[in-house]
Amino acid sequence: MSDSSELQLFAALALAGVLAVVLLLVWTRRVGAEKRHINQLRDREDRLKLALWASSEQYWDYDLKTKHMRRIWVDSRSNRTDLHVLSTTDNDHRIHPDDMPQVQAKLRDHLNGQSELFISEHRILDPRGEWLWVRARGRAVESGADGKVRRIAGTARDITLVRQAERERRIAIAVLRSMNEAVAVLDRDFNFISINPAFTRTTGYTEREVIGQSASLLDSTQHDVAFYNRIRQKLANEGHWAGEMWQRRKNSQEFLCQIESSATESIYGEHRVYIAVITDITQQKRAEQELRYLANFDTLTNLPNRTMFSERLSRAIVRARRQDHRIAVLFLDLDRFKDINDSLGHTAGDRILRAAAMRLQETVGEHQTVARLGGDEFTVVLENLDQPGDADKVAREIIMAFEAPLVLDDRQEVVVSPSIGISLYPDHGQVPTELLKQADTAMYQAKAAGRRTFARYDDSMEIANRRRAQLSSALHKVLDRGELRLVFQPRLSLTTRRITGVEALLRWTSEEYGEIPPIQFIPLAEESGLILEIGEWVLREACLTLQRWHQAGLTELNMAVNVSVLQLLRGDFSEIVRRALEDTGVPPHALELELTESVLMANAEQTSAKLQSLREMGVSLAIDDFGTGYSSLAYLKRLPITTLKIDKTFITDLNRDPDDTAITTTVITMAHSLGLNVVAEGVETETQLRFLDHFRCDEIQGYWLLRPVDPDTCLQFIRDWTPAKANGAGPQAAILSPAAPPPADLTA
Ligand code: C2E
Ligand code: MG
Ligand code: MG
Repeated sequence: MSDSSELQLFAALALAGVLAVVLLLVWTRRVGAEKRHINQLRDREDRLKLALWASSEQYWDYDLKTKHMRRIWVDSRSNRTDLHVLSTTDNDHRIHPDDMPQVQAKLRDHLNGQSELFISEHRILDPRGEWLWVRARGRAVESGADGKVRRIAGTARDITLVRQAERERRIAIAVLRSMNEAVAVLDRDFNFISINPAFTRTTGYTEREVIGQSASLLDSTQHDVAFYNRIRQKLANEGHWAGEMWQRRKNSQEFLCQIESSATESIYGEHRVYIAVITDITQQKRAEQELRYLANFDTLTNLPNRTMFSERLSRAIVRARRQDHRIAVLFLDLDRFKDINDSLGHTAGDRILRAAAMRLQETVGEHQTVARLGGDEFTVVLENLDQPGDADKVAREIIMAFEAPLVLDDRQEVVVSPSIGISLYPDHGQVPTELLKQADTAMYQAKAAGRRTFARYDDSMEIANRRRAQLSSALHKVLDRGELRLVFQPRLSLTTRRITGVEALLRWTSEEYGEIPPIQFIPLAEESGLILEIGEWVLREACLTLQRWHQAGLTELNMAVNVSVLQLLRGDFSEIVRRALEDTGVPPHALELELTESVLMANAEQTSAKLQSLREMGVSLAIDDFGTGYSSLAYLKRLPITTLKIDKTFITDLNRDPDDTAITTTVITMAHSLGLNVVAEGVETETQLRFLDHFRCDEIQGYWLLRPVDPDTCLQFIRDWTPAKANGAGPQAAILSPAAPPPADLTA
């Protein structure tokens, strides 16, 4: 080989070597560049992952044409060093139907160029099937040849928890604002940070007036400063304080409140704050006091009620036991109060109860317990009695005190009498209930004894009480069983010496209990209201009998029928009378209705109208048992009555008791001056008859003439009557009235 060819080969080899080096260099550089690029990419990807992880955002990329949604996010559970990336591509991206319209609108705005960014908060369905709130931000990233946007991309963030917290916060604020309780937030030095509207309503201070001020602004003078300091210290130490305290409003008015306060760290950042809920309980306390009053006192009379009475009686018993004293329980019931109440009206009834309560308290003195058990029932506890008789004395004083009318207002006065029952500790019972029950039993005995009186309990009353109950139930069957009948007692005119009429008197022969006197069963019938039915039966039966006698020729004869005031007050009594007269054919003037005076007097105004309509019908009206009530003759002037019957108690003692004699003569004279016909009841002796004759009493009725007898015997007696008999030594044949005292004994 030539030198030149060797040179050429060497040059070629050198070139090739250079080329190879250059190529290697280029290759290594490229590889290096690629490596760097990949590293760069990886780095970016790491940063993106980190950014997604740190920001809790997800990346999204939406193809408007294919409707493909691509999403990339970091699994929230992965940790910083091992970030787990998740991605999906779907074309079923679900937005909550409620949010869809606003998402579309916002997208449209962005695509139209009206908004620079697409920003939306809406709900999307997550893979678990739950709706999540997201806040999405994005913008158009690619457009097609036609200039239309093809892709839009951005980030989104799960804001479900934030939304929830925000919602809760809004609710909390709304609650706070609408709360009735005042709420104040205080800093750790007890200065106001925030208050709600109720706070302003309660205290009078507005937000501007209190913020920054110390809570001691509200301290009241009801407590000393140390009190408030103690509470604040306690709250600071224990983180909680609840209780009642007095506070002061802006207008200086003090109010009692219930405070519930606690320390909390969370809501106002790191600083400790106190939240105080303040409830004004001034009204509530007042209401509680009122309730306590209502529970123990009767609001009508302001007297202690049954509860308070029992309590006081219990305490009195304890004292009496310790001091070895006696106490008395007086049970007082106003006579015929129900009728008075029905006729005068409930307002007047209430006034009567109030006036009676006052009268009672005045009489027994303010140191004795007077209570109202309800209705017209009152009780009195008398302590430190030396002997049982002391209670009787007080009962007597009470009855006397009620003789003077109760003044209801400047126009109205009413007389009511009480019936009083007495029980004694330790004689009759050891406990309040027992003593009360026995006093009640005794009170019934007082009523049965004719009212306006008192009775002291004794064991036999229990028996009497039971009998009352038995009779009362037997009375209900009385009309069905036909156990009632009428007896008749004639009335004699002292001027003509003729029999003018008869009084119908009711008799009950019970299948179980035998003969029951009217004085026992009439009050029971009145109590149960049965008297209405029974009274109507009496009226018809009496009219039927009279009609028969009229037909038998005794056309001048009148019939007197006793009427309970209940009959007069309830229902349309004049209509009942009119029908009875019509049905039996008795002329109205032949009928006289007898009413007892006490209730007529108490209800003068009310009954007067009812009596008037009876009078207009032509029926005569008599006041029965005159003298047993408290009516003055002046009162009588107001009533359209025709006859006055002087009670037999006055007649019995004529000539013996100068008072009774004086009363009877006065009554006769005054009644005459009022144009009334005067009848003396219960005339048993000729002496009485002569006396009455002398003082020009018009008529008499009583055993001297005839005892009440059955209709046939009565008719026979009237037929056989001759005026001459009135001048004899007593007209009645011994057979007719075997129990009548022989006149000879009495004339002596
Ligand atoms: P009253 O209307 O005052 O009747 C007179 C009472 O005195 C009658 O008693 C009669 O039997 C009695 N009596 C008559 N004469 C004498 C006498 O000379 N001496 C004595 N010691 N008593 C005499 P009775 O029948 O027991 O009636 C008592 C009361 O019962 C009556 O008193 C009357 O208020 C009432 N009552 C009787 N029947 C009825 C009636 O149908 N309806 C109503 N609501 N009450 C009646
Ligand atoms: Mg009568
Ligand atoms: Mg009478």
